[in-house]
Amino acid sequence: MSLLKSLTSNSSAFNFKPSQSTIAQTSPYRVLLRTACSSSRRTNSIDLFYSRGISSVKVVSFSNISNYCTYSRDNVCSSKRRSRGPVMAGKKASEGIKQEDGKYKHTVDLPKTTFGMRANSSVREPEIQKIWEENQVFKKVVEKNSGGNFILHDGPPYANGDLHIGHALNKILKDIINRYKCHKCVQQEMYPCLIPHAHFSHSPFLSLFHTSLPLALLSLSLFLTSHTSFIPMYYQIYYIVIDYVQKLSLDQKARNDLTPLKLRAKAAKFAKETVKKQMSSFKRYGVWADWNDPYLTLDPEYEAAQIEVFGQMALKGYIYRGRKPVHWSPSSRTALAEAELEYPEKHVSRSIYAIFRVVAAPLAPSSLLQEFPNLCLAVWTTTPWTIPANAAVAVNPKLEYAVVEVKSLQDQDPSSGGTIKKGLGLVLKDEKKPFLIVASELVPSLEAKWGVKLVVKTRQLGSDLENYRYIHPIDNRECPVVIGGDYITTETGTGLVHTAPGHGQEDYVTGQKYGLPILSPVDDDGKFTEEAGQFSGLDVLGEGNTAVVKYLDEHLSLILEESYEHKYPYDWRTKKPTIFRATEQWFASVEGFRHAAMDAIGHVKWVPPQAENRISAMTASRSDWCISRQRTWGVPIPVFYHLQSREPLMNEETIDHIKSIVSQKGSDAWWYMTVEDLLPAKYRDKAAEYEKGTDTMDVWFDSGSSWAAVLGKRDSLSYPADLYLEGTDQHRGWFQSSLLTSVATKGKAPYSSVLTHGFVLDEKGFKMSKSLGNVVDPRFVIEGGKNQKEAPAYGADVLRLWVSSVDYTGDVMIGPQILRQMSEVYRKLRGTLRYLLANLHDWKTEYTVPYHELPRIDQHALFQLENVVKNIQGNYESYQFFKIFQILQRFVIVDLSNFYFDVAKDRLYVGGSTSYTRKTCQTVLAAHLLSIVRIIAPILPHLAEDVWQNLPFQYITQDGSVAEYVFESRWPISNERWLSLPVEEINFWENILELRTEVNRVLEVARTGKLIGASLDAKVHIHTSDAGLASQLWKLCEAKNEADTLHRLFITSQAEIVPSLNDEHIANIPYSGECLIQGKNKVWIGISRAVGSKCERCWNYSQQVGSFMDHPTLCSRCYDVVALQMPSEVAAVS
Ligand SMILES: [Zn+2]
Repeated sequence: MSLLKSLTSNSSAFNFKPSQSTIAQTSPYRVLLRTACSSSRRTNSIDLFYSRGISSVKVVSFSNISNYCTYSRDNVCSSKRRSRGPVMAGKKASEGIKQEDGKYKHTVDLPKTTFGMRANSSVREPEIQKIWEENQVFKKVVEKNSGGNFILHDGPPYANGDLHIGHALNKILKDIINRYKCHKCVQQEMYPCLIPHAHFSHSPFLSLFHTSLPLALLSLSLFLTSHTSFIPMYYQIYYIVIDYVQKLSLDQKARNDLTPLKLRAKAAKFAKETVKKQMSSFKRYGVWADWNDPYLTLDPEYEAAQIEVFGQMALKGYIYRGRKPVHWSPSSRTALAEAELEYPEKHVSRSIYAIFRVVAAPLAPSSLLQEFPNLCLAVWTTTPWTIPANAAVAVNPKLEYAVVEVKSLQDQDPSSGGTIKKGLGLVLKDEKKPFLIVASELVPSLEAKWGVKLVVKTRQLGSDLENYRYIHPIDNRECPVVIGGDYITTETGTGLVHTAPGHGQEDYVTGQKYGLPILSPVDDDGKFTEEAGQFSGLDVLGEGNTAVVKYLDEHLSLILEESYEHKYPYDWRTKKPTIFRATEQWFASVEGFRHAAMDAIGHVKWVPPQAENRISAMTASRSDWCISRQRTWGVPIPVFYHLQSREPLMNEETIDHIKSIVSQKGSDAWWYMTVEDLLPAKYRDKAAEYEKGTDTMDVWFDSGSSWAAVLGKRDSLSYPADLYLEGTDQHRGWFQSSLLTSVATKGKAPYSSVLTHGFVLDEKGFKMSKSLGNVVDPRFVIEGGKNQKEAPAYGADVLRLWVSSVDYTGDVMIGPQILRQMSEVYRKLRGTLRYLLANLHDWKTEYTVPYHELPRIDQHALFQLENVVKNIQGNYESYQFFKIFQILQRFVIVDLSNFYFDVAKDRLYVGGSTSYTRKTCQTVLAAHLLSIVRIIAPILPHLAEDVWQNLPFQYITQDGSVAEYVFESRWPISNERWLSLPVEEINFWENILELRTEVNRVLEVARTGKLIGASLDAKVHIHTSDAGLASQLWKLCEAKNEADTLHRLFITSQAEIVPSLNDEHIANIPYSGECLIQGKNKVWIGISRAVGSKCERCWNYSQQVGSFMDHPTLCSRCYDVVALQMPSEVAAVS
């Protein structure tokens, strides 16, 4: 375009005459418009334009004195109306649009790549996974690691059904760590003797800058720094077995038909099939593991190791058999561990206030009984069915109790009725009312609750009530009042506690002190036994409860029944209520090694740190661990019982013998082999006197033995593990059971660090449930839902990006909106990588420009890159992936594309294919590509591999071989030289970037005011009274290489430092603004139209356009490029 054409086409811009205030209001920026068009100028904009055109000549002469610099193209990034300069010229030409720009299209270096903008993940990700699998990439990477191990021990939780988003969170977190450790050489500290650290401050990339060293030699020395990290991940299945059996239990007949061996065979088959299915899902998430060799708790080797752990604990005296109340599930007919319980909302119990008649008092000068012959103890319970097992009433010795007289029953029903169901007992309607003992503090609330007047007659301390005796309301036994513990409070009830040692943990402990009988007249199905007399055969949670309440009322022992909502333990599998019930069970005595366990907790690193408090509190307060279960699947408790004496037989010889049988034949042998065969030779002649035990071990004992069965048995692994990583619920589950078995047998924790994550909620923070319709299924996230518009196929990497973005230390959220955001971040990241690939299409490693020869902007870019790599590495090490996500988003997507990439386009596209500044830029871009692709690889392995497979050049690893896959390239080695940029230089670039932002704001206003279209149409004028800053800016104007010149950084055609702001100068600048740099240095920024004519090739304005006879539309830079690159061809075209 000629200058005249350009003027004409742009002159219309000056017909629009916004007032100053309009611009100030509509502009989002705080730009000061000091001198924008005076009214006289606005009335004649065309004239103004011409006059400006003429004055530009003067400016040039002026600028010759005041350090003036020239030319550029392209635009500010913030504008949507971004002019793409030479790119557009080239594109338009290639699209066949006839225009003059096309003449130089062959001289423009347009980006080129085979790497697609769209991820097409549903096709591409499986292709990449196939490449990994077929080429055994994981195995190769692992095998090349020859140093120490990092053991991330994969745990059993979460595998109790179809995979859900919680599994994805857990397994992907593990995979990010696994891949990072595989990728990264973590063991330098452990093997300092190999090669001193200092030798390796340069990356192979940088080393290539110093081409004097033979490549092979370099590679060898660097190779030695890379030690191994190998994390096989295993997968555990026993929950699936249980689920299967649970399904079976719905059909009681089918279950009855199964012999234990048939049941076990079916369960194992089902389990193995499910494992296969789940594995394929995990593989689709991109989880790398030794899937061919998982650990299964039903493997004979595993089972034998578990029996070994049990045996070691038994021989140390930590295993005992006792009759104790345990959580019992009538619906699955077995004891349950705390970790097998759940506490659903809104459980309602039938609570009762019952009274027991006092019949005797300890010998004392004055007993209450003499004064109040009709005296009763009032108790409160939420489990009326435990009254038949009552053995005592417990009081708190420090509490004050009152004897009250019940008076004046109010007519209306008791207060606080509402939705709570209440029923008053007959005793209150009886004429002869008893005197009651209750905690003094509770008198007012009981009056309100019962709807009576309670007159306090006298008071006594709880300790004075000890050894009063009362008559059991059902079977007329005489029972004592006993002193209980601090668990007796005045929060609820009466302050007196009905004590049934067979049905409660605290009751049991109190009972032990007083030698109370452990009554538990309830069978495996949760029905009263004959011991319960008239209630025999009734279901304790149903009609049994009703019968007891009715009986008490009829016998004037019930004051009130009311419904009561509270937390109550349910069986996590059947979702039905459990009971506390005393049975003969095997226990691990936690008391025996509690101190050691607490001590071991202190030696473990807990992430987040507050997890230590949780597990400490749980371990400190836990009672002995009931490890026996009444099931026919699982690992048997290796014990024989004497037929007559019922004495158990279990010692080192018997356990060893069973262990060796199980290791060969599996635990089925316990069921199909005879007692004679199962006993060691020494006891065989007595086989007829014994029978096998029928209990199996708690599943938490199964999983809690994995450190021994897996870490302790496989050659490639070691104990303790470096890391366990599961959900927070495992503090009372796997983390704890593993800790207890390991401390009991080895005296230390099985892990050196433990990481916990929260649960996944929907994006409003609600729990996911089918009824709410807010469930996010990882399969649909990856493959897309039925409606691909609403639920597109995002692919595994978007899911993984989400995992990296959340702060997993608390509960995390996911939903359609969040996934859309993730997909957008992914898309931008992909775009960034594509930019890098496309601008390196003609790059070769040997073109690398030595660091000390790089322009300042390039050295600074490498400094920033290295900082980011270092920072991200630190966050991988501390497992703070959400910080990596934030850094990536900020640096890769925002910073790079807003500044370096934006500014770089000029020299990349039009600087000339072989020009120095294009080479330096590509040197920097190659460093960015190689670093970014490797640091994102643990989180986004498919994207990273896709980039790697499209690399336009080969990457040589430290050992001199070509890295065919991204994980063969290893983690970037830190580069101290790039980091050692002087502080002044760092500060300087901070100033420049800040100034650039301000310049962009004024440019935007000038664009809105139609002075300019693209930023290349502009010339920037800068004045600052800060001498230091001014001199720095002058230096940039004079920069010896084009890459550092100030107007290139602004992407304007010209930039000028104005030594002083006189009125004459300001009068000629239509748009201006002021700002503070670093909050202190005042800078004035002016924008005018660029001087000279627009170069056809690069769209920069220059006064040299028109001065070359053979290329009259080119600037001198383009003239040099064109003349050098294709003199004959271009000459022919023109
Ligand atoms: Zn040009």
